[in-house]
Amino acid sequence: MPRTFHEAKAALAAGTASVAAMTKAALAEAGAKAQLNIFVELFPESALEKAAEVDAKLARGQAGPLAGAIISIKDNLCYAGNRVSAASRMLEGYTSPYSATVVERILAADAVIIGRTNCDEFAMGSSNETSAHGPVGNPLDPARVPGGSSGGAAASVAAGLCHMALASDTGGSIRQPASFCGIAGFKPTYGRVSRYGLIAFASSFDQVGPLAHDVADVESLQKVIAGPDPRDNTSSHRPFAVPQVPAKLKVGYYTQCVDHPGLDPEIKAHVEHQLERLRAAGHEVVPMELAMAELFVPAYYILSTAEASSNLARFDGIRYGHRAQQAEGVEEVFRKSRSEGFGPEVKRRILLGTFVLSAGYYDAYYGQGMRVRRLIRDNTLHALSGVDVMLTPTCPATAFPHGHISDPVAMYLQDIFTVQANLAGVPAISIPAGRHSNGMPFGIQLMAKPFDDERLLAIARHAFGA
Ligand code: GLN
Repeated sequence: MPRTFHEAKAALAAGTASVAAMTKAALAEAGAKAQLNIFVELFPESALEKAAEVDAKLARGQAGPLAGAIISIKDNLCYAGNRVSAASRMLEGYTSPYSATVVERILAADAVIIGRTNCDEFAMGSSNETSAHGPVGNPLDPARVPGGSSGGAAASVAAGLCHMALASDTGGSIRQPASFCGIAGFKPTYGRVSRYGLIAFASSFDQVGPLAHDVADVESLQKVIAGPDPRDNTSSHRPFAVPQVPAKLKVGYYTQCVDHPGLDPEIKAHVEHQLERLRAAGHEVVPMELAMAELFVPAYYILSTAEASSNLARFDGIRYGHRAQQAEGVEEVFRKSRSEGFGPEVKRRILLGTFVLSAGYYDAYYGQGMRVRRLIRDNTLHALSGVDVMLTPTCPATAFPHGHISDPVAMYLQDIFTVQANLAGVPAISIPAGRHSNGMPFGIQLMAKPFDDERLLAIARHAFGA
């Protein structure tokens, strides 16, 4: 199977490939790499059926823009008639009654959906280790994590089991696994892509987006999923940006990010090298002050857990989810069902989120968190309004071995460079940057103004060769 979607399209046009043959190859390869635990479930029947339909459409010259694309979907996106579990025991056996808008759109564009990918439980995590389906092996070194929460999504692309993946990003869940697996991952502007049919974690942060080997493929998928949706009232009608790349770019960077004590020295050296390269190519490179950086992770974890505690209240064994067998009365059904259905990380977040929303503490934590978020957003927008893109590392380090980070706070600090984009609602992409001397890949992140998504992708392609 050709590695990328654009190569697949070229092979189809040249008559040297068929969608059915690629789908068969992808399914066989996924089976051969089953020990990586990337897929929770493959959809061989519907995938092969769709592939045959797309081949017939191609022969008639009537195929959609994603004809030839083999795509995986994260296990928190609803696909009518199929199981979806958010990698939780809570949703064991649950079948989606409808499809997410993004799933409908890629099918209408003639993509083949090959299966649903493993992830952290309810997308809470940075290593894919909180999944009820077990951890995922990084295809580049199975002893290491693929990142999270979209670990299976990134691994499905990096392992060559599909061309592209659809996933969600609440605080970095697309970009961090992309960095750990050596591929590209894009979090669109909040509101650019419909969240209808995405199992909610933190609704004011969540955004669906693509992962792929390169930015050209990210663009192909993003074009199909972006745009307003009457079923998601936070989806935007803002017109699409013209993806024009000025010959001379203004690239910002935060000195605090580059000098961050937790940043791996080789990643730091690479970022500095990139800045030097841009300067030498005639672009303007501007150092900027990052205000309130120490509050990004705390604000994110206060607000996202508050939203999660509210979103996950519906999983009570009655409205949704696992129901405890031995329970009497409503109260006990709720308590036992939730105790049995949720894993430890999800419980920790629900407890924290419920606490910060509780009457006596609401103002000190949730209210304060909201005010801090507003200031972070204002500062971020102000900084981004003066540049074409902002360059940062994606992650402080490369993929770590399984079981290596057991302290939750240390795990949360994985998100230091990625949560800003979610707090501010701006678009951000992680593009493959290089290889560390430990053999693992890492990415760099580019952020832009809200709704500058298309220009951001074009800049990533032209100025960074991604
Ligand atoms: N690692 C972050 C968290 O655990 C981000 C998760 C995400 O983006 N879904 O919350």
